[in-house]
Amino acid sequence: MNIVLLGPPGAGKGTLAALLKNELNVPHISTGDIFRSNIKNGTELGKKVQGILASGGLVPDEVTIEMVRDRLASDDTASGYILDGFPRTIPQAEALSEMAELEAVINFVLSDDEVVKRLSGRRLCPSTGRIYHIVSNPPKQEGIDDETGEPLIQRDDDKPEAIRHRLEVYRAETAPLIGYYKEKGKIIDIDASPSPETVLSSVIAALKA
Ligand code: AMP
Repeated sequence: MNIVLLGPPGAGKGTLAALLKNELNVPHISTGDIFRSNIKNGTELGKKVQGILASGGLVPDEVTIEMVRDRLASDDTASGYILDGFPRTIPQAEALSEMAELEAVINFVLSDDEVVKRLSGRRLCPSTGRIYHIVSNPPKQEGIDDETGEPLIQRDDDKPEAIRHRLEVYRAETAPLIGYYKEKGKIIDIDASPSPETVLSSVIAALKA
């Protein structure tokens, strides 16, 4: 089953994908995670995209599309995947349509106010990417990952300047994909405001239907 998660930054796509992949037994492919791991490892790609990610802009389509093409060619995608953060532009969606047949595009619906609240309180474990929120999903010990014991970090692009920019980019470049996939009959709208477990149940029910 090939699924795309669509929606504004901070809507909970990464959190949902981490739960849904265990239900569907398919890999979670997050382009943001792949870029961040390249930055952390100091690769050529990482050096090229570091400034773009920090500002909240989009990596050029050619670079992103090639990276996804490579990733989708891996053996672990044989029975499907969950794409999180790709496609983010119409050209990316068109490139994807030549690589894969999609079963569904899950559109996370969340207000701007809620997006800002979620992003500004988000914290991550630097090595595993595990996601916390300082209010709604805090770690057992403040600022420390529950499993690895590492100090949690805030993403550069979760700081106020970058959040505003990411929302503008989302509206201009990514939101048009809702209409694009609606026309193809692929969109499933999901209210992203409840808890991750409730969102997971709605997604599973919608996929079954
Ligand atoms: P995310 O973790 O999905 O919020 O992505 C973090 C950042 O990675 C984005 O703000 C972009 O700079 C970059 N990025 C991730 N996915 C894409 C994509 N499909 N196209 C262009 N840039 C992307």
